[in-house]
Amino acid sequence: MLYSYQQQHYMKFLGIVKKQLKEHGIAEYRANQIFKDVFHNGIDTYDEMTTLPAYVKDFVKENVPIYSIVPHTENNSDNGNTHKVLFTLEDGNTIEAVLMRFEDGRNTVCVSSQVGCAMNCRFCATGTLKFKRNLTYEEIADQVLYFAVKMKKEGQRVNHVVYMGMGEPLLNYKQVEKSIDLLRDKTALHIGSRNITVSTCGIVPEIKRFSNDFQQVNLAVSLHAPNDRIRNTIMPVSKQFPLENLMDACREYTEKTHRRITFEYVMLHDINDGEKEAHELARLLRGMLCLVNLIPYNETAIKKIQGSSSKRINTFKSILESNGIQVTKRVSLGQDIDAACGQLARKQ
Ligand code: SAH
Repeated sequence: MLYSYQQQHYMKFLGIVKKQLKEHGIAEYRANQIFKDVFHNGIDTYDEMTTLPAYVKDFVKENVPIYSIVPHTENNSDNGNTHKVLFTLEDGNTIEAVLMRFEDGRNTVCVSSQVGCAMNCRFCATGTLKFKRNLTYEEIADQVLYFAVKMKKEGQRVNHVVYMGMGEPLLNYKQVEKSIDLLRDKTALHIGSRNITVSTCGIVPEIKRFSNDFQQVNLAVSLHAPNDRIRNTIMPVSKQFPLENLMDACREYTEKTHRRITFEYVMLHDINDGEKEAHELARLLRGMLCLVNLIPYNETAIKKIQGSSSKRINTFKSILESNGIQVTKRVSLGQDIDAACGQLARKQ
């Protein structure tokens, strides 16, 4: 059998290079069996693979790890809808990923794209960690595979993936791109492009690249302020990529893809949540194909920052709405286990 392009990645990702099997006198079709067991049958230990004879099991157990990441600690939220896992990587670094089960049937995995983050957003716990390194595409895709296998056992599947965990995905473009290819492959997890969202703090040149490469994948931009003055104080990245350039890149995205862009806006008391800012934001976004997603601030160890009250969030929301802008308020899950937006910061 010929493997598809993406499947070849998977073969490598599984570590089963056909040659490797062949060299050890093992028939190549064993790779297909393993592939099918992992991705279709949700079996992720060789011992459970009943179709494999003992000599193949012995070889692959020794030489072909199924995962590039190892679960270390697991946490469930009290209501059971959020599941956070800390994974250890081969080099000893750690990352976190979160599975969220929404009532409407969405099972979303939030993946990390880097170890730590270099962006230093003032309100984000991940930003307090040093940037260590980019994740490989296997390490990114494995976060999803891990939860997909779990869900399969319950007769369910992961149907959405958001690149909103630790790190800035567009600063790890190549590996993020490859991981998206893996996730979409129909012989494997088969997650639809439109069910994948990449979130960026606003790396302008990479947004342009993304508009060309991923016309069907959702783009979310962490805006968080209607002007450079405020944005500079909470997001250092905006000194490098001012709002005007960022908005140009976002318009280019919507024009090229005809897809709505999501602007994330974390509500910070007395920083970006006033009526003045709401009007300013409405002016900035007027006429754009977009949705504003207001995010209630999740507590972190950063003491200087306080979240907006519901009252202020609602006022902000209605000002935007009365200016014809689509707005939603994000339902954040997993605050009780520090698994919500901006709370991923396990001590490395
Ligand atoms: N680096 C990317 C991906 C992270 S996504 C980005 O910036 O978009 C995580 C989202 O949660 C971002 O919109 C981020 O700004 C937001 N966030 C960070 N800290 C938060 C906090 N404490 N409460 C709520 N949202 C937060």
